[in-house]
Amino acid sequence: MRIKVLGCYGGQLLGFHLTSFLINDSILLDAGSPTEALDLEDQFAIRHIFVSHTHLDHIKDIAFLADNRSLKRLSGVDSNRQIIVHSLPENIDVLRKDFFNNRVWPDFSRIPSASDPILVFEPIHADQTVEVDGVRITAIPVNHPVPCTGFLIEEDDKQFIYTADTGSTERIWEIANAQPNLKGMIVDCSFPNAYENLASVSGHLTPNSMAVELAKFDKFGKIPVYLYHMKPETLDVLTSEVESLFLPHLRMLTQVDELLL
Ligand SMILES: [Zn+2]
Ligand SMILES: [Zn+2]
Repeated sequence: MRIKVLGCYGGQLLGFHLTSFLINDSILLDAGSPTEALDLEDQFAIRHIFVSHTHLDHIKDIAFLADNRSLKRLSGVDSNRQIIVHSLPENIDVLRKDFFNNRVWPDFSRIPSASDPILVFEPIHADQTVEVDGVRITAIPVNHPVPCTGFLIEEDDKQFIYTADTGSTERIWEIANAQPNLKGMIVDCSFPNAYENLASVSGHLTPNSMAVELAKFDKFGKIPVYLYHMKPETLDVLTSEVESLFLPHLRMLTQVDELLL
């Protein structure tokens, strides 16, 4: 399994992309930045998007991926016609009613036609596993102000976990502890410690609250933990606070990372 970081930040600034991870070549976890990070051919290889939740920093580029895909179709390319968007049923509802509603953005689930659209919305329920392109993906509920799931990703006998945006939570750590061959985790670490209240009400972690969460992880210290969703304008403070914890096998992701499992 190959996990390419397209964006790993919880804010958008020059040089800092919003959250998006590409698994192998065809599966996206969240869609904050694929059209900024991938050329057209690589965008065109995407067949599935797993959406953790409907905050804009995780969905915005579904709009531009769909737009680019429609131009590709008009140019006569016939393969990879559709992008299947997998998310909780309540999130699919938000995407349909509040985003692809022909007011904010065209309804690409009916373009170019309802029978052969660019976007296909596929509900995935909590704890349900979906297999796409040889990868098994399970949605695991986490703690955020809107319905949100992290994902357990499995290929062959290897597992990986992405918590998505979360504050203090339980189930995803139980799932992590139950995996026989877990190769790593991507974990929320959004705000510096001084913003603990803001992190708590907005469903995110700070270095200190992230360290409390990691105490629930049996394999911590043996398996790499990668931090994401850092607010770019506070990156210097966050970096020094994470370093001062002296925790093993823990580091912040960067946009050039590619994880090979
Ligand atoms: Zn976010
Ligand atoms: Zn969020």
